Amino acid sequence: MLFEEGRPLKDLTTFGIGGPAKYFIEVQSIDQLQEVISYCYQQNLRYLVLGKGSNILFSDQGYDGVVILNKIHFCQQEEGIFTVGAGYSFSLLGSQTARKGWAGLEFASGIPGSVGGAVYMNAGANGGETFQYLTEVTYVNEKGKVEILPKGKLQWGYRSSSFQSLKGSIAAAKFHLISSTEARARQLKIIDYRTKTQPYSDMSAGCVFRNASHASAGALIEQCGLKGHSIGGAEISLLHGNFIVNRSDATAQDVINLAAHVKKVVHEKTGHDLEMEIRVIST
Ligand SMILES: Cc1cc2nc3c(=O)[nH]c(=O)nc-3n(C[C@H](O)[C@H](O)[C@H](O)COP(=O)(O)OP(=O)(O)OC[C@H]3O[C@@H](n4cnc5c(N)ncnc54)[C@H](O)[C@@H]3O)c2cc1C
Repeated sequence: MLFEEGRPLKDLTTFGIGGPAKYFIEVQSIDQLQEVISYCYQQNLRYLVLGKGSNILFSDQGYDGVVILNKIHFCQQEEGIFTVGAGYSFSLLGSQTARKGWAGLEFASGIPGSVGGAVYMNAGANGGETFQYLTEVTYVNEKGKVEILPKGKLQWGYRSSSFQSLKGSIAAAKFHLISSTEARARQLKIIDYRTKTQPYSDMSAGCVFRNASHASAGALIEQCGLKGHSIGGAEISLLHGNFIVNRSDATAQDVINLAAHVKKVVHEKTGHDLEMEIRVIST
């Protein structure tokens, strides 16, 4: 397996932002993932595992380490049990399972991440969260060894999971879904609503801020009159206040400056302190 040098990260993220990765490699199997992680461990190389790049903001200077693109794509089904590679599309999993009459992941339809990214972030929408129907995770630990982690041994919260403080990579996830004749109708309703309320045709990384305890971040931003506000090429979506979109060649710094402005105005006008949901990765 060979590392490529200087791959532009903007091409690997839904924001379309990010300088070059010092080293880049794509893995298509758990064996390859183990090989790369154990090599990075032995050589003491810094690395980051990337899924579909839909919740991440890389620096304009790029990443001074190894970016490992997870393309482990299998999906196996036994009745309602789905074992899925971490690189598999989470949105596709949501629509495929619902179409086959299995409920639990309808909310995933339209979330443009990978299964690994969804588990890492405990992605959620419409009252559903990734951990709910998950039973176990296949994990490649920091030394490159495979571990099977049952859900009960892991911690889950709003857009958070134990994986955010572990060093290694999610390789696969197992979900146990429930038979339902209504799953497909529910999933179609969800995707219809999403496409009307979120700026899917723009480049973004989804919601920039986590919702505050009793208030939606999008509603607070809208209430402060910030929709449409821009800095450089970054703009607050006119459709959804919690999305910053890359309107024209935005830099990571434009996004960071705009997010800082939003935080300041929302704090001054409403007293709420917004926290970033997207992962901002330093050089
Ligand atoms: C239009 C749009 C709509 C969205 N709607 C929603 C929504 O409704 N709900 C929601 O929760 N999110 C939403 N998101 C955000 C995003 O899609 C989710 O957070 C998604 O789960 C991220 O997955 P990813 O594969 O793109 O992760 P990436 O962006 O590639 O990575 C995110 C983080 O996960 C880590 N990571 C990724 N894969 C692995 C792995 N295999 N092992 C270890 N770490 C890993 C990365 O290192 C990084 O820290 C939306 C984004 C967009 C652009």
